[in-house]
This record gives sequence, structure tokens and C-alpha cells, in this order.
Amino acid sequence: MPNYYVFLGPPGAGKGTQAKIVADTLQLSHVSSGDIFRANLSNQTELGKLAQGYMNRGELVPDDLTISMIRDRLQKPDCGKGAILDGFPRTPAQAEALDIMLRENAGEVVFVPLISVPNNLILERMTGRWSCRAAGHVYHSKYNPPKQAGVCDLDGSELYQREDDKLETVQKRLDVYEKQTAPLIAYYSAQGKLVEIDGSLEITQVTASLLQALAGK
Ligand code: ADP
Ligand code: ADP
Repeated sequence: MPNYYVFLGPPGAGKGTQAKIVADTLQLSHVSSGDIFRANLSNQTELGKLAQGYMNRGELVPDDLTISMIRDRLQKPDCGKGAILDGFPRTPAQAEALDIMLRENAGEVVFVPLISVPNNLILERMTGRWSCRAAGHVYHSKYNPPKQAGVCDLDGSELYQREDDKLETVQKRLDVYEKQTAPLIAYYSAQGKLVEIDGSLEITQVTASLLQALAGK
């Protein structure tokens, strides 16, 4: 049965960083809703144009657009054996839609690590985040700097600071997380799938906790 893992946590907790490492280690696909939206934005697709305003304001893109985008992505062959989902679901309606779409292919969400980080660390992480244009690889000016400033170690593309990582927008995104996404903690907890992971530790230590928790699933 294909197994899917949902990485939950506030913006800036390290979901993307960890999802990439764990997906590479376990040879699973990594599906990041934020990366897919940003690729659509830079290619100025219809979806990108529809999503842009919401993203720049730090609001969630409406559920119908987001769910159909993820449905398309999960139907690609590389997701048939399972995947790590990062940034999706973010609302109870998205979580319910995910359960239904996975069930159609006899799959299910088996494990939901909640990466917890206090708000003061989150602000520092997001304001120091640099992302690569080509593939969304993520760095931090202090905690995970690239070898050469402004250049991605992995693909040589330009690093940039996200428009929505400005202090005012970060605050808005944290509010949105509390109101719209935090209810998923109870949703997955009630199903016995949630495990809290201390995301305030160093990157390698968080990876070790995640791999250990996943090994027991
Ligand atoms: P972060 O990694 O900092 O949590 P993301 O890259 O996941 O941020 O998301 C950036 C923006 O993309 C969000 O603020 C939102 O506008 C949009 N977005 C990403 N995933 C979703 C989702 N599942 N539902 C609605 N909007 C989303
Ligand atoms: P998310 O996907 O949850 O929004 P990211 O993985 O993009 O979070 O991480 C946000 C920022 O924090 C990035 O600049 C990243 O390099 C940095 N970061 C991630 N994990 C850690 C960690 N454990 N310690 C210090 N910095 C981290």
C-alpha cells in the first residue's frame, strides 16, 4: 500500500529543508505545494496568476485551486509508491480531500510529524532564508549558508529572498497558520498519526529525529 507522510508545522519550521533530505534518504518523492505555486508564478501560468495575490499577502490560496493542483501532482507516476507532502494539507478541507484522493489509489497518510519551533526562532529563520530560483533549494544566511553567497550549491542558480518573507507578511502567515492550519494537529492526532518533533535543534539533529520516528512506522 502506498504510504504518504505529511510534514506539518508553522512557516519557517524547516519542513522543506527536512522533507528534501528525508525524501532523498528514503528515495521518496517530495511534493511541496509552495514550490509548485512558485514555479507557476515564475512561469506566469493561469494558476500562477490566480495564486499570486494570495501568496504575496501571506494568505492561503483557495482550497479548490490548491486541491486540484495537488491531485494532478499526486497522479504523476513518481508519487504512486508514496510521497512526502510538505505544505499540504493546510486546512481541514484539504486534509479531507487528501484522504479521499489517496483512498482512490489504496494509499493513505500513515505518519504526520509536527515540526515545532518557537515563534522567535521562526522570525529569524524566515528573514534569513534564501531560496534558489531553479528548484527551491533552501539556505540560511547564518544557519545553512551556501558555499558562495547568492549562488545555489546544488544547481548554480541565483538565490533570492522570497517576497513573502518580509517581516509584516511573516506575521500574517503565522496568524493564518494558527487559525487555518493548526486545527490539523487535532485532526491527525485523533487518528493516532501525529508525532511532535523538536524543530529548534540543528538541521542534522532534526533529520535524525525524523528518520528515527519514521523508521517506527
Ligand atoms: P512556507 O514554506 O514558508 O510555509 P510555502 O512555500 O509552503 O511557505 O507557501 C508559500 C505560500 O504558498 C503560502 O503562504 C500560500 O499563499 C501558498 N500555499 C502553499 N501551500 C498552500 C496550501 N496547501 N494551501 C493554500 N495555500 C498554499
Ligand atoms: P519551511 O519549509 O517550514 O517554511 P524551511 O525549510 O524553508 O522551512 O526553513 C526556513 C529557514 O530556516 C531556511 O532558511 C532554512 O535554511 C532554515 N532552517 C531550516 N531548518 C533549520 C534548523 N534546524 N536550524 C536552523 N535553521 C534552519
